[in-house]
Amino acid sequence: MAHINDNFTKLPGSYLFSEIGRRTAAYQEAHPEAKLIKMGIGDVTLPLAPAVVAAMHEGVDDLAAAETFHGYGPEQGYDFLRTAIAEADFRARGVEIDDDEIFVSDGAKSDCGNIGDILSLDSRVAVCDPVYPVYVDTNAMAGRAGDYDEDAQGWTNIVYMPTTAENDFCPALPEEDVDVIYLCSPNNPTGTALTFGQLKAWVDYANDHDAIIMFDAAYERFITQDDVPHSIYEIPGAKTCAIEFRSFSKTAGFTGARCGYTVVPKALVRDGASLNGLWNRRQTTKFNGASYVIQKGAAAVYTPEGARQIDEAIAHYRENARVIREGLTEAGFEVFGGVNSPYIWCKTPGGMGSWDFFNKLLEEANIITTPGAGFGPAGEGYIRFTAFGNAEATKEAMKRVQALKA
Ligand code: PLP
Repeated sequence: MAHINDNFTKLPGSYLFSEIGRRTAAYQEAHPEAKLIKMGIGDVTLPLAPAVVAAMHEGVDDLAAAETFHGYGPEQGYDFLRTAIAEADFRARGVEIDDDEIFVSDGAKSDCGNIGDILSLDSRVAVCDPVYPVYVDTNAMAGRAGDYDEDAQGWTNIVYMPTTAENDFCPALPEEDVDVIYLCSPNNPTGTALTFGQLKAWVDYANDHDAIIMFDAAYERFITQDDVPHSIYEIPGAKTCAIEFRSFSKTAGFTGARCGYTVVPKALVRDGASLNGLWNRRQTTKFNGASYVIQKGAAAVYTPEGARQIDEAIAHYRENARVIREGLTEAGFEVFGGVNSPYIWCKTPGGMGSWDFFNKLLEEANIITTPGAGFGPAGEGYIRFTAFGNAEATKEAMKRVQALKA
């Protein structure tokens, strides 16, 4: 008799966005005239840049002719894209990353979720709280998380590191030994980012403990401050302890097109094995490469024209973030993030629960947000706004928030 992977039965329901959807639909049904403004889910709204679209069209034309047709491509990604990435995202910033340390994929979610394939099942995993749920759930599926404790709202074998206003959104180094540490900067959901000094403490910890940092830099292009590293490899010593995940989703509007990449340095060695070799083996066995057409589009992000167009889109989202940050501050709320990130993390007023504040914003301002508690217990008392919407709607939302306070 076949048996299922029992770890799946331990997973709590993915409650957050379905519950938001349920509450929103119920409200809209009861108030069909209400004009709801969506500031909840972190999806982009601007279309792909024209240079990207043109490159994708070219890619389709290539596939349409026998002389230029492409079948299966390299599992690690086409050289034209790996070289462009290594050159522009790393070497141009003074970070020596080789082309064969870049693995192109269909997005950061897959890579963050799959990376555990090359790690021992008894690795002790540490995550920030609140957290992007993929890191936790994929480790739970693999059997590394232990059991889900409903009361503590967490897994018995996962080390949770609270990241709140009290510690400047930089988790304290764990007291117990941990093997794998997930860090996300700029962070989803808090919108804050780690500085060079803060990240260096983690790189030193990981090297001292032979741990590995899984560094999720999906929001890298939103960084505005000089003291925030764009890559963990800007920190000396990171190549012997860190894997970095990047995505074209939020940086270049690829949430629907799907493309990202992972950097696995050859210098990262554990148990005598290079993780670059292990990941290469994993990808060549389980993945047949990202689509040629999509990789053509992603390469256009690195052309001068493509880069300029993408910067314009980022500027649009940044301006929304500024409007939200300033609007909420003017209305008397305490806000974090939004400077190096499209997310604004707002403290709920008067210690209100984050679901109660979600309800208040939905019912009294017709704005949909994301309750912080949905990202982990330390997210209680916060609510997340996203800057991915349209400029007019964002301004209108802030007017409503200010009216709400008055
Ligand atoms: N990492 C973080 C922190 C994210 O917030 C997201 C998407 O919201 C992803 C990864 C997923 O990126 P992708 O669309 O490349 O799978």
